[in-house]
Amino acid sequence: MGRTIGIDLGTTNSCIAFSDGGHPTVIQSKSGSRVMPSVVAFSAKGERLVGLVAKRQAITNPKNTVNSIKRLIGRRYAEVASHINDVSYEIVENSNGDAAVRIMDRVYTPPEISAIILQQLKLTAEEFLGEEVTDAVITVPAYFNEVQRQATKAAGKIAGFTVRRVLNEPTAAALAFIEPEGRKKLAVYDFGGGTFDISVLQVIDGVFEVKATLGDTSLGGDDLDTKLVQWIMSEFKSETGIDLTRDNIAPQRVREAAERAKCELSMTQETDINLPFIATGESGPVHLEITITRKLFEELAGDLIKRTIPLCRDAVEDAGMKIEELDHVVLVGGSTRIPMVQKLVEEFFGRKPAQSVNPDEVVALGAAIESSVLAGHRKDLVLIDVTPLTLGVETLGGVLAPIIRRNSPIPTRNSRIFTTASDNQSVVGVHVAQGEREIIDGNRSLGTFELRGLGAAKRGEPRIEVVFEIDASGILNVSARDTNTGQEQSIKVNPSGGLSGADIERLRREASANAEADKIRMKLVSLRNEADEVIYRASKSLKVAREELDKESWEELDKEAKKLKTLRDTDDSLALAKSINEVRQLNSSVSRLVEVFESDEENATSEFLESITKSDDEAKLPE
Ligand code: AMP
Repeated sequence: MGRTIGIDLGTTNSCIAFSDGGHPTVIQSKSGSRVMPSVVAFSAKGERLVGLVAKRQAITNPKNTVNSIKRLIGRRYAEVASHINDVSYEIVENSNGDAAVRIMDRVYTPPEISAIILQQLKLTAEEFLGEEVTDAVITVPAYFNEVQRQATKAAGKIAGFTVRRVLNEPTAAALAFIEPEGRKKLAVYDFGGGTFDISVLQVIDGVFEVKATLGDTSLGGDDLDTKLVQWIMSEFKSETGIDLTRDNIAPQRVREAAERAKCELSMTQETDINLPFIATGESGPVHLEITITRKLFEELAGDLIKRTIPLCRDAVEDAGMKIEELDHVVLVGGSTRIPMVQKLVEEFFGRKPAQSVNPDEVVALGAAIESSVLAGHRKDLVLIDVTPLTLGVETLGGVLAPIIRRNSPIPTRNSRIFTTASDNQSVVGVHVAQGEREIIDGNRSLGTFELRGLGAAKRGEPRIEVVFEIDASGILNVSARDTNTGQEQSIKVNPSGGLSGADIERLRREASANAEADKIRMKLVSLRNEADEVIYRASKSLKVAREELDKESWEELDKEAKKLKTLRDTDDSLALAKSINEVRQLNSSVSRLVEVFESDEENATSEFLESITKSDDEAKLPE
């Protein structure tokens, strides 16, 4: 087994950390970034881009750039249909009714896209740590249902990880925030890009127990952006008569500007949005210039933000606590930087939220702590999580019979006895569902199976024991047994939102083949950068040394430099490397002259090189 890391797989940004038992450390990318945008893009050439490079090109390639995939993972198409207009890429319905993404005629499941992000994080961790990373603790919103957890686990597997645990984000935050000694009660208010969670925990001498958790997987910073986008577009339409929603590129530009404005409004009272050439009107190009105040933003987004407060009230009540008993309120997620959020939280809990944690990093740090517990480096911590939603089976008349109630500590096991509805019934169907509604249709269906071979008996006589078992990652196993005949049937609840084990294995192989291709591409990019520098130096030498060099040497350097220029744009890395060496050697014979030249032109040269290096960073160092 290689190294284990903790991963906060966020809707907007992802962050990774590791711990050897001591203080956890955030893993930085080569360019020093501590978080990576959770964005995946496919270029016209079919290349995959991940992280900052993918985010940067989103405006010009909106249809092939996937952001906020976490909002789709493990979800039915029908559940996400209302978000379809919030994104520029195409959301489609898979053959099994799940949401998926279509990019250039290929349909990707959300676990596949998430796996591309995870794979990049794995690469970053391996570069940083200098060793293979095989295992991971991945965090999910506490309110994720069974299918969303399974789908996240599948994404981890596709990316080549052994997923040691799927950990709730607020639990991770608490692990990173609280010293394990003593007795404390705390609330973790987690408002990110795509989801909202509130959890209430109790810590007693290293035992972290989640007492209650509630949330809304369809409420996050993205929705606040949508409110701003809608307002900006409608203002623009009433001023110019132009409907930007019909444009290919404008909505993405407006969305980016709206998000930036939202973030600025966390620091200032007013901000401007300037988007030149956003559309073409009857008399030429039209620009979008608009001022947004914090007050206006709060009017537009206030209702959404306020929706979090009743959930806080219910969670504290579910935990059997009073608000005054809480020792700390911890804020997690980028949206908690919004002043209105902080104000509402402070008013509701009657205390200032803790300021000592970085809301972007605390979850990854907690996941790293948990990974060190699992690796046996730390023995002073125990986690007791809860299941966020009630689990049960369908009974006659379409009613959900609960077997494990929400907020039950996990791992857990519970069973109930059921019987048949008609005489000599030889088969019973077991339909597993999750949710708080009494009517089965209002809940999330997790899977069905049949128990066959029941002995002949009058209705109501057979005793069928249905057992639900949830492991420490919140993954559910269901079995049914006829206590008379001993016949038994079980399912692991639909692995990964529609992906079979074979699917996951195939996708994992494809992903690792892609990782190889990515490495080769990165090598080529780095050779091209080297070629640019060598060509630049050679061209300077050729200019300076024209008089001093003998004709033969000058012509040879000229010829080889031209050859290198041609090779630079091919994919032949071997020939490119050889040619770079060749030109470098020929050039070294005139290096003395170049040095003289360079000292004269030092500034110009360093500026030029800096610009090369900067553009290299963008192309070569996906965050
Ligand atoms: P997370 O999922 O925790 O990475 O949070 C991402 C969300 O936080 C996105 O919707 C961001 O726009 C939002 N966000 C980040 N920084 C700020 C800020 N300073 N003010 C308001 N929202 C922010």
